[in-house]
Amino acid sequence: MDEFAARLRALRERTRAKALYVSALPNIRYLTGFTGSAGHLLVEPEQATLFTDGRYRTQAREQTDGVVVEVSAGDSRPALAASVRSLRLKRLGFEANRLDYETHSFLDGELPHCRLVPLKAEVESLRQIKSAAEVEAIRRAVDLNSKAFDEVCSIVEPGWTESRLAAELEYRFRSLGGEGPAFPTIVASGAHGALPHAQPRPEAIKPQSLVVIDQGAILDGYCSDMTRMIAIGHPDETQNKLLQAVLEAQEAAIDAIRPGVECRTVDSRARQVLRLTTVGGTRLDTMFTHSTGHGLGLEIHEGPRIAPRQRQKLQAGMVVTVEPGVYLEGRAGVRIEDVVVVTERGCEVLTSTSRALRVLGESGASQNG
Ligand code: ZN
Ligand code: ZN
Repeated sequence: MDEFAARLRALRERTRAKALYVSALPNIRYLTGFTGSAGHLLVEPEQATLFTDGRYRTQAREQTDGVVVEVSAGDSRPALAASVRSLRLKRLGFEANRLDYETHSFLDGELPHCRLVPLKAEVESLRQIKSAAEVEAIRRAVDLNSKAFDEVCSIVEPGWTESRLAAELEYRFRSLGGEGPAFPTIVASGAHGALPHAQPRPEAIKPQSLVVIDQGAILDGYCSDMTRMIAIGHPDETQNKLLQAVLEAQEAAIDAIRPGVECRTVDSRARQVLRLTTVGGTRLDTMFTHSTGHGLGLEIHEGPRIAPRQRQKLQAGMVVTVEPGVYLEGRAGVRIEDVVVVTERGCEVLTSTSRALRVLGESGASQNG
């Protein structure tokens, strides 16, 4: 049985629904291999049917195997509704966390004798546990991301703008064989770095400032995600304090990762370390304003969430980021992020790039500091 057939079977076993309508494109891709931008998947006990439009006639048949492909001239939702009617289905499960209101209303109107039953994140739950092939795909995306970072670090010079640095990275995501960025690249220097999701500005990176670089490439559909710090000139005492604390927090969180551990435990390990350091009388854990990490795969943000109050237990095959950060308003931000796979006995960090600060000298050559 190929990987897609196994996933469809796992979904059927999980939901025990007679028929399930999958509307989210990443979920359709996960279950069938189809990568088009328009599609609706009907999963029945013995058959799966992909409804799409004429633009994907060839692609849908090439990318899928063991799936019935129905091609419509335009919108393929009427064909989906007609199929459900012809099957005389009394209940149809749908993705409550994904289906848009308009499509739900349309199906409700077209299917007066069929009850639409909300199902919550069933495919996403399956997707949390990666197969060996998926872990390798993520590893390749992570390696490509690291290569782009290394190449840009070898040519970056004082005077570059944040936008230039982001553009050079994103250019390499494609030129090195990837599909592009998994999310808008973050390059944030100095006080701008204190905004966790800062957008790159067309402003030159100033000497003596820390730069947060949060980047991710997509390769063969799978995402990578990494945050590293660079600086022009050596950091001062406060900057060093932030860097050291975040590094230790990240290491403590990674050390806690193994099957059976609750996500909130991993999150609290990072916070416990940050609590031990203060800057200007303020504890660093109070400046850590987001969660410690997230799953990733076909999408950049997947389950599980490594966050406070998350009692979900880690399992082998989960792939998560570990990315504590501290944000000193008006001064600087520091975040360090790696991708980690949970193994049978512990975990493996997939990101190979050194976590050390890259200090860029006046000459432009970068070095590990
Ligand atoms: Zn990131
Ligand atoms: Zn992330």
